[in-house]
Amino acid sequence: MTPLPEIIARRIAQTGPITVADYMAECLLHPDHGYYATRDPFGEQGDFTTSPEISQMFGEMIGLLLAQVWMDQERPGPFTLAEIGPGRGTLMADILRVANVVPGFAEAAQVHLVEASPTLHEVQRKTLGSREVTWCDTADDLPQFQPLLLVANEFFDALPIRQFQRDSNGWRERMVGLTGDKLTMGLSTPAPIALLDDRLADTKPGDLVEHCPGAEPVVAAVSERIASNGGVALFIDYGDWHSLGDTLQALRAHEPDDPLAHPGEADLTAHVDFEALAKAATGLQVTPMTPQGVLLERLGITARAQTLASKLSGDALESHIAAHRRLTHPQEMGNLFKAIALYPNDCTPPPGFAP
Ligand code: SAH
Repeated sequence: MTPLPEIIARRIAQTGPITVADYMAECLLHPDHGYYATRDPFGEQGDFTTSPEISQMFGEMIGLLLAQVWMDQERPGPFTLAEIGPGRGTLMADILRVANVVPGFAEAAQVHLVEASPTLHEVQRKTLGSREVTWCDTADDLPQFQPLLLVANEFFDALPIRQFQRDSNGWRERMVGLTGDKLTMGLSTPAPIALLDDRLADTKPGDLVEHCPGAEPVVAAVSERIASNGGVALFIDYGDWHSLGDTLQALRAHEPDDPLAHPGEADLTAHVDFEALAKAATGLQVTPMTPQGVLLERLGITARAQTLASKLSGDALESHIAAHRRLTHPQEMGNLFKAIALYPNDCTPPPGFAP
């Protein structure tokens, strides 16, 4: 056991209950004992598997989308090719490989990775080999004055959320406190919360809503660059338009866990509220939210899967077929995961998104 449960308990004993967002931030990003700071959590051996880790086809489809946008926007000279929350770097490696079919793209791309975890920096460096890469701490550090082509897959769901329960006299915030020496969930006293005023219309007393304070500044920084200099941002995540209810979840060794049970040792996520992302995107166009399966089909994943299948047999073929199904089938990731893209006002929408 790491000392993180003790560190959190001491903080609560000294200064009182903490918000769910503060609890998530400690668990995920504590510099010494945080979940992302201490491990490479992906794949069979880790706690969860993401789309780029399931099959190279995911990154290939995203790479073709980005390359098409680059061509549609007159093949700009130096541009920023960025990923926020790049995990092992697999998605960026697949994007760069497939983009080689479009002459000039890879040469014009200046790769930037926005990553909070030094442990994952090292993993990303290894995955991307000799490719020149700049690491940034936040989206604000991305270059300001050139086109930005950006992807974020399963990034926003890792950002800390606050949770509020509607009360007849306002909202009570869900707080992590201590009962004896055990972490427990409680509720603050009710107060009006201005940022939730627009949720008064669609909620009733007892309903729970979530707010992700870290998402809006990221979307604002990205939008500003794309609105001024061109490019595209593609956000893919677990979630829906307009969140309602408690979606905080912990995953440990591919099994659901109690979010308070293993601080720093389980992945904590919450569903992404795509409407909130779209609202934070100002000065540019937002595509309709599109299920991952539909997007990948429109980008040509099935034709690509057939080409790859023709070279495989036995177990490799079976697992390739399973990977295609997992990424696209409505009962697997195809419908649970959604995508939106942001693009400049006077440009063609990126491929795969119906207008
Ligand atoms: N996109 C990858 C990994 C998703 S996991 C994939 O699809 O496989 C979430 C990623 O976001 C990890 O790389 C994690 O370290 C990073 N991350 C989490 N919080 C962050 C923050 N506040 N700023 C930057 N990166 C963050």
